[in-house]
Amino acid sequence: MNSHLSEKIISAIRQLCPDPAKRYSLHEPFFCGNEWDYVKECLDSTWVSSVGPYVQQFENKLQDYTSINNAVCVVNGTSALYVCLKLSGVEAGDEVIVPTLTFIATANSVCYCQATPHFADCEPDTLGMDPEKLERHLERCTISKDGHCFNRESGKRISAIIPVHIFGQPARIEEIVKVAKRFQLVVIEDIAESLGSFYQGKHTGSWGTMAALSFNGNKIVTTGGGGAILTNDSKLAQKAKHLTSTAKVPHPWEFFHDEIGFNYRLPNINAALGCAQLEKLPSFLEAKRDLAQRYAQAFEGINDLRVLLELPQAKSNYWLNAIILNKPNRTLRDEILKATNDVGIMTRPLWNLLHTLPMFQTCPRMDLSVARDIENSVVNIPSSASLAQ
Ligand SMILES: *Cc1c(COP(=O)(O)O)cnc(C)c1O
Repeated sequence: MNSHLSEKIISAIRQLCPDPAKRYSLHEPFFCGNEWDYVKECLDSTWVSSVGPYVQQFENKLQDYTSINNAVCVVNGTSALYVCLKLSGVEAGDEVIVPTLTFIATANSVCYCQATPHFADCEPDTLGMDPEKLERHLERCTISKDGHCFNRESGKRISAIIPVHIFGQPARIEEIVKVAKRFQLVVIEDIAESLGSFYQGKHTGSWGTMAALSFNGNKIVTTGGGGAILTNDSKLAQKAKHLTSTAKVPHPWEFFHDEIGFNYRLPNINAALGCAQLEKLPSFLEAKRDLAQRYAQAFEGINDLRVLLELPQAKSNYWLNAIILNKPNRTLRDEILKATNDVGIMTRPLWNLLHTLPMFQTCPRMDLSVARDIENSVVNIPSSASLAQ
């Protein structure tokens, strides 16, 4: 019966991935615009490194697209998250609320601040944090003192929260921010996967104090490697620029640095690639929406599962499509993974839940039962923009 389901899934995916001789990857970069021209211009001009006009251009384009006032480009999404946390006042010894269902970088960035991840559960509809469950947990386990939130059990301050928009599906961020405000937590949005995703008409990343983007090779827009810090707070943006470019005080020739900064600058050659990719973002979004709709149709007749779809108040970039088994079943999930990968259709499970990893096993947490079920239900399916062509 189970192998029967695997076969149904394969034939549904085959409607979009028809060539049995081909290997369909989960998500591949798509260069179909000015990438060659802009990168060649960097080579011709020799401006390939940390100085050059494309960085500023890329930052401007990001601001225009997201309607967030400031963008600061950096080397990757992980460093963007780390700088966001540092600038929003996360200190050594604090706790930071992080979903257990996310990529490792979300929690690592907390540890770089010598703070501790405090794991939160997700909800089945968005795979993002569950705001109601979060609120109940914080009511039960924290006390407010001197305008700060403290974990009753550990005695540590909980200073911030990092909601993540998983696979580009907007979490219920307005509701999460409301809870965060009530408990005096700074909100840093991890929008690494959600460039082009909106909630209530506002781009993801507009809701928190700061947000971190990634342009890694597997994301919807890539610069090879790269990231950006987005914020409507111009002071924080200035600090981010300063801190990520060695804290050098601008001067025609002097090398005066006024604090210990980082070399997290995005090279011009990567920004050039980013400019060309951003020009194509609207067409990528259209392609991915089309793919998601075709998957929804292809899976319509299969009763044992659903496809992950956006909420009515949200607009997803559909970066990665996912099927979700109605009944969590690890064995069945693994069988589907094996059957699809065996025939050249690349599928992947979720990340291992972070609270189960060796370095995070003793971290504070709420009940994580929904994430545990989701882990045993989700399979990502091929989602490259080029599939829709
Ligand atoms: C990709 C990703 C990151 C990290 O971005 P890098 O550019 O790879 O450092 C962080 N969080 C999430 C959810 C991601 O998917």
